[in-house]
Order: sequence, then structure tokens, then C-alpha cells
Amino acid sequence: MADTNLNNNERDILSEANRDFIEYGSTIKKCPRCGKPLVYQIIGTKEITRCSDGNCIMLLAVGI
Ligand SMILES: [Zn+2]
Repeated sequence: MADTNLNNNERDILSEANRDFIEYGSTIKKCPRCGKPLVYQIIGTKEITRCSDGNCIMLLAVGI
């Protein structure tokens, strides 16, 4: 299970990656914790920006 308890730096990077995915469909940013690529998913009303390692970190946003 990915960790959603991010520090400020990790949250900032995943937030920036999230904007990249929405604007450009991809991001060059890497996971701040392990350096792996980041991925973007929409599941129902949940918007997820996470490390490609499913056991690393993720940023969860609930859409409106
Ligand atoms: Zn990671």
C-alpha cells in the first residue's frame, strides 16, 4: 500500500507532477523518495498521482 503521509517536499513534487499530467499528459519529475517514474490515474472521482512503485508514495485528490 502506497504511503499517503507525505512531507512538504514530496507533496510539492507530486502536486507539480499532477499539474504536468493534466496539462501535458506526462511529467519528467521522478519520485522524490525512490527516483522511479511517476504515474497518474483517475479511479472514479479520485485523482491519484503516485510513484510507479505501488508500495512507495501517492498523492490522492478527490475531484468535484
Ligand atoms: Zn517512489
